Amino acid sequence: MTTEATGSKSPAQALITKEVARRRTFGIISHPDAGKTTLTEKLLLFSGAIQMAGTVKGRKSGRHATSDWMDIEKQRGISVASSVMQFDYRDHVINLLDTPGHQDFSEDTYRVLTAVDAALMVIDAAKGVEEQTIKLLNVCRMRNTPILTFMNKMDREVRDPLEVLDEVESVLKIQCAPVTWPIGMGKTFRGVYHLLRDEILLFEAGQSEQKQTVEVVKGIDNPRLDELFPLEMEQLRMEVELVNGASHPFDLEAFRAGVQTPVFFGSAVNNFGVREILNALIEWAPAPQPRDATIRDVSPEEPKFSGFVFKIQANMDPAHRDRIAFLRVCSGRFERGMKIRHLRLGRDVKISNVITFMSQQREQVEEAFAGDIIGLHNHGDMQIGDSFSEGEALQFTGIPYFAPEMFRTVRIRNPLKVKQLQKGLQQLGEEGAVQVFKPVHGGELILGAVGVLQFEVVAHRLQGEYGVDAVFEGSSIYTARWVTCEDPKIMADFEKNLYAHVGHDAAGNLAYLATSSVNLNLIQERWPKVVFHATREHA
Ligand code: GDP
Repeated sequence: MTTEATGSKSPAQALITKEVARRRTFGIISHPDAGKTTLTEKLLLFSGAIQMAGTVKGRKSGRHATSDWMDIEKQRGISVASSVMQFDYRDHVINLLDTPGHQDFSEDTYRVLTAVDAALMVIDAAKGVEEQTIKLLNVCRMRNTPILTFMNKMDREVRDPLEVLDEVESVLKIQCAPVTWPIGMGKTFRGVYHLLRDEILLFEAGQSEQKQTVEVVKGIDNPRLDELFPLEMEQLRMEVELVNGASHPFDLEAFRAGVQTPVFFGSAVNNFGVREILNALIEWAPAPQPRDATIRDVSPEEPKFSGFVFKIQANMDPAHRDRIAFLRVCSGRFERGMKIRHLRLGRDVKISNVITFMSQQREQVEEAFAGDIIGLHNHGDMQIGDSFSEGEALQFTGIPYFAPEMFRTVRIRNPLKVKQLQKGLQQLGEEGAVQVFKPVHGGELILGAVGVLQFEVVAHRLQGEYGVDAVFEGSSIYTARWVTCEDPKIMADFEKNLYAHVGHDAAGNLAYLATSSVNLNLIQERWPKVVFHATREHA
């Protein structure tokens, strides 16, 4: 706090201000196989957080049959450890949040992006913009999250870089500002030209973790370059002229506003281009930003602690039915052992057992600041979207539920357990593990998810925690839309007319369950006053 007499900050406040300013919290968005795991590892190597390649486990290394729960369980163990990675780089503290893909793709993947201040988009330059990248970018767009772009795999035969940039601009609707430009590709990949620094960074193949330096040649007109690359320089100079003339120059404000992405070319597996990404992250990406907490915006530098839960990871230790709630700190200073208020329950909790994610130090970290993630042990009373503070009634917003893309109906083998099934699904639905819809006409419960793993987790937890043996069956539902209407009479008519196609979710919101996109369009046309939502905020 500012001491009025001197106008200077108290030591406690100065510490918070300093710690916030040096934090960067980001996630990597990419389509499977673009190189997220490889790049994560190189980022950690560069920062010195790990010494050896192969430390970050790609979840593919033990691909599991979808029904093999034990295997999933083991993988969960790994993925918790690697789901938040905190490391130091150039006197900054970087929090890298994993956005699980592949079989682990779930609503969590989306929600992680509500807890970051920036995202790094990794694109396989041979493939261009792929499906999962589009979905994840759309989630970033909900909060105008600044995006850095890494065009990976330049050591391969890739597509024409201009064409790929064009695709990013037209498909993802974001301006591209190339910061580096590749010289050749595949076998003749020579390096990149740094457009802002007028330097050529020479490529040298090799995956050695020791190799952290690249040779730099200053100036695109440097005659040394013509000696080195007699065949390539003419083309490079032509391309650079074209790029300088035709593309957007880098604009920090446009980047921060989420309308422009600086683009870097490189090769993660060869450790090339990685340093430029880290530097851009600390020089350009924003420090932790203020957050909307309904009654007011909360600044990260405020002295009092606050934060919200954006993810719950279940089955860390099946014997204890323990879950970990991942909380993003939004303000103040968190200290182990402090008492904080769980606002939804109106209860003070003492947090002594907390997980932090420093990859460099083994010892437990005692404090956390805005931008950091802490893991709280949760015995079933925390839900996604829950806010914590030192007492003030803050309710952080912007943690969305997404319209599910996969549906199952649920039945139980033992009809005497119907109560347990309902209770279990109600709780799992509230917690955010899966979405549960109760049809208005009273049929079987319907589960909705964005990733198939969510159903497996639910089946396993129903069995383990509620003693229910549930059978999941395919459903003819194609997608769900939450519906609202300003006129309660129209809403009531809607529900009555379409009673066979609507249901309530775990929080009691009405949703229309469409059988196809054609069906959805038709209903939207017929009910122009009803609003159909593809996401809904946590209540
Ligand atoms: P993820 O699914 O996005 O995590 O992708 P991975 O990091 O597991 O990479 C997928 C595959 O691409 C692996 O076989 C990597 O070795 C390979 N890969 C990653 N980066 C590069 C690169 O720069 N060049 C080449 N040639 N291969 C790469």
